[in-house]
Amino acid sequence: MKASRTRIKEDIETIARFGGLSEGGVTRLALSKEDMDGRKYLIEKMKEAGLNVTIDAVGNTIGRREGKKKLAPIMIGSHLDTVPCGGNYDGIAGVIAALETIRMLNDEGVETVRPIEVVNFTAEESSRFLTATMGSKCMKGSLTIDKIKSLKDKNGNSFYDALSQAGFEPDKLDSVKKYIGDYHAFIELHIEQGPVLEAEKKPIGIVTFIAAPTRMKINIKGKADHSGNTPMNMRRDALAGASEIILALEKIASEEAGRHTVGTVGDVRVTPGAMNVIPGEVELLVDIRDIDMNEKRKAYELFIESINEVASKRNLIIERELLVNDTPVQMSAKIINTIQEATESLGYPYKIMHSGAGHDAMNLVPITDVGMIFIPSVDGISHNIKEFTEMEDICNGADVLYASLYKLAMEDQ
Ligand SMILES: [Zn+2]
Repeated sequence: MKASRTRIKEDIETIARFGGLSEGGVTRLALSKEDMDGRKYLIEKMKEAGLNVTIDAVGNTIGRREGKKKLAPIMIGSHLDTVPCGGNYDGIAGVIAALETIRMLNDEGVETVRPIEVVNFTAEESSRFLTATMGSKCMKGSLTIDKIKSLKDKNGNSFYDALSQAGFEPDKLDSVKKYIGDYHAFIELHIEQGPVLEAEKKPIGIVTFIAAPTRMKINIKGKADHSGNTPMNMRRDALAGASEIILALEKIASEEAGRHTVGTVGDVRVTPGAMNVIPGEVELLVDIRDIDMNEKRKAYELFIESINEVASKRNLIIERELLVNDTPVQMSAKIINTIQEATESLGYPYKIMHSGAGHDAMNLVPITDVGMIFIPSVDGISHNIKEFTEMEDICNGADVLYASLYKLAMEDQ
């Protein structure tokens, strides 16, 4: 049984129209009209596939196919929301592949032992409310009512308000929380959002770990002086200091910390920011990720040492604020094996790899056995209108998801 390219293509192309941009790509922010239109289409398609659709208090949409027994279901899915000027595959591929596996079961007339649930999580992207994977965080139980009232978009609308406006019932947040035993397994198929699978010509990635970030804001204070009248040896140039710090992080991540460590300074704000003024103040936004908490801590400590060295050498005052320090999560060995066997049975080449980006899947880890299937991103591009994944790769991914799901959904215990 193979996934239907025609059905998958039609779904992906139709969803691309909700918030579709004339230059290609899509803007479908969480809980926007475009997102709600996309959800409506998905619900229609879920019903067409015979799924019983329920929507929880924060809008997570779940289509359920019953099994022979009243056992804990297998959940599969991803998200339909996008970043501004995003692509047509990030999240969408996983939701549509999940839906397709249900149609494949229907075509084969298969009745599984366990129920299966296809999910579209609310607000995976952080673009609107500045927090990622919100629907799955609510399932994990890590967001409170106060928190969802405090997370606001740039117009001052909170996540709570947006949920209410969309017709959901955020006051019933507690009812969204899932517990150990509620699910037998969760699998998310997702585009890789990196260049590795394409470069190695592997159509399937099997995820072992999801890396987690340590993020900080660094404020460097020197002295803003006249660029003509201040001799070189009498300067306290905050930007020159920042440059050393940026290069130090690059060196630490590439040479001194763990094999999987990555470090990025993604934003630099210079004050006053004039051609003829020595920069007096610089703010840096830093993101360090690893799949190993010890390696990440090591990179962080080395980085702090470098910052202190630069501060004393250049007579700068450097303050840092730790914004995030998350713990990496490990996928279930059982699900990794299941996906690996499924991929091998189909004869598709694969790579065992980690995810540098966060996904809804990580929030399900405390609740059930979790796995992720990656499919290639052309040129590694995502969160961009140029994001592209070949239809064939989505179909191959759906095949692997189907075979993995089939195995798990037939498990009696
Ligand atoms: Zn995504």
